[in-house]
Amino acid sequence: MLSWSIGQVTVTCIQESQADVPPGFLIPGLTAEAVAAIDWLDPRFLGEGGLLRLAIQALVIRTPDRLIVVDTCLGNDKFGREIPNWNGLDTRFLEDFAAAGFDPGAVDTVFCTHLHSDHVGWNTYRSGDGWAPTFPNARYLLGRTEFDYWDQARETGHGSTPAVFADSIQPLFDAGLVDLIELPHQVTDEIVLTPTPGHTPGHASVEIRSQGQAGLITGDFIHHPCQMAVPDLAEVADTDAALAGETRRRLLADCADQPILVIGTHFARPVAGHVRSDGAVFRFEV
Ligand SMILES: [Zn+2]
Repeated sequence: MLSWSIGQVTVTCIQESQADVPPGFLIPGLTAEAVAAIDWLDPRFLGEGGLLRLAIQALVIRTPDRLIVVDTCLGNDKFGREIPNWNGLDTRFLEDFAAAGFDPGAVDTVFCTHLHSDHVGWNTYRSGDGWAPTFPNARYLLGRTEFDYWDQARETGHGSTPAVFADSIQPLFDAGLVDLIELPHQVTDEIVLTPTPGHTPGHASVEIRSQGQAGLITGDFIHHPCQMAVPDLAEVADTDAALAGETRRRLLADCADQPILVIGTHFARPVAGHVRSDGAVFRFEV
């Protein structure tokens, strides 16, 4: 089990899956040669032949009095996803969640950094002909800007959005479990949801502070540590590439050379490390 302490807070990583992808698939224009030239990049972040290793995982935050799940992966039995192998999954995510010592019924808060299908899937699970909340006693926090954007996309039938809403978002509203929030949003004394727009319009990251220690859960303002060397290159799904680049640089600069544990939502094991400045760009030390 992969977990970290930040003062009185612990963060535990529950990985649902991982995959190795060609660099240009994630970041158009990024070549295998350019990735190979990043000499500080830990080989555990790469697959065979210089492919980028990416994980899909939930991060579970335990504070002295709260249990919070950040992002809920792809989920089982979901269909209508644009990436073919994201459909009809049958993973052991819930078993792994329980094996890590967590009870879904004890989770009091779920936060989705944004509403892409790889961040909302386990909001619900298949129950009979419908979908039931996986965390029935939680408040599900969704950013209002983010929700409004994808609600519009749902109405216009954009991509997989109607399917994602039908199976992973609407059932939460039907159960009365959603709080639409404005950013920044303070969840507890230790946890603040901070706006990091660009990948999506209402994207947010999670700041953790406790007893003088600090951490940051990235969400998708960055997908892979190699982006620290090329922060201005857009990721394939960035809705606003210029703003995403600006946000990536701003957050990396804020973390650089600081005692802030950066936990990458899509980073493969070891997932967390520290950002250092590296001339005009950055590098990741694990
Ligand atoms: Zn993602």
